[in-house]
Amino acid sequence: MATIDLHFHSHASDGALAADEVVRRAAANGASLIALTDHDCTRGLPEARRAAAAEGVAFLDGVEISVTWGKHTIHIVGLGMDPADAALCRGLATIRDGRVARAHAMAAHLEKVGIGGAFDGAMARCSNPEMIGRTHFARFMVQQNMVKDLRTVFRKYLTPGKPGYVAHEWAALGDAVDWICKAGGIAVIAHPGRYDLGRTLMERLILEFKEAGGGALEVSSGSHSLDDRHKFALLAERHQLLSSSGSDFHAPGEGAREVGRTDDLPAICRPVWEHLAHRLAVVPACGKTE
Ligand code: AMP
Ligand code: MN
Ligand code: MN
Ligand code: MN
Repeated sequence: MATIDLHFHSHASDGALAADEVVRRAAANGASLIALTDHDCTRGLPEARRAAAAEGVAFLDGVEISVTWGKHTIHIVGLGMDPADAALCRGLATIRDGRVARAHAMAAHLEKVGIGGAFDGAMARCSNPEMIGRTHFARFMVQQNMVKDLRTVFRKYLTPGKPGYVAHEWAALGDAVDWICKAGGIAVIAHPGRYDLGRTLMERLILEFKEAGGGALEVSSGSHSLDDRHKFALLAERHQLLSSSGSDFHAPGEGAREVGRTDDLPAICRPVWEHLAHRLAVVPACGKTE
């Protein structure tokens, strides 16, 4: 059955495949509507859009913005926004600005616990140097046989309280949502099941997000269980938010989910893509998206 995948990455950020490759892979996996959503960066979109057109797959421009909300890092996906919008471009450039300095700090911390050469090792695995991030460090450490897999690298080295973690101030929630909305897109809280917030804070996040103009929750995500899907479907309905669906694919064999393979939204959801038809780059011949 055709699927809809509105969240995955290319090597413009921390995905391992080129934008055209990941789009062709999504098409081969049966996707009928996709959005490329690189972290803090829209560089892969023109190539992805061309590849989608060649495959006859409907395409939306997308992005995944890193946000600091209190002491939490939250990811906000933007869908159907104009990637050339000046305020959006300026905002994303500001976020990218801090990444290289942060990477030097991460490498210095890792050096102290016996992991040498991490800056160069991570950079060598990063095709867009201003987008260097934790995934590139993790791949370096796994490929050098220092740690057995990515999960373990994050658990032992790259999460809060661990030696290679360097706290960073990303965008403000209200700014990220505003950039997306003013560029004509819809803002989505990415993978809400991954945040360690508890009920009260999750409610507060949703209220602030809505207040800023946010429109949807990512109910179906590669990192969600069936329980998460039902829980966030109910939460979306209660807060009158639309629902989105994305694999969060980064690389073959990495993570649970292939690109283009997403779980259906629960029946009570109102799909975000029904509100983005006017932003589609390719309208399939049948005029429908599934
Ligand atoms: P950064 O933006 O540099 O902080 O890196 C964040 C990225 O690290 C996320 O987008 C994920 O791709 C990856 N990531 C975060 N936590 C984990 C984890 N526990 N296991 C695997 N990858 C993770
Ligand atoms: Mn990532
Ligand atoms: Mn994310
Ligand atoms: Mn993602």
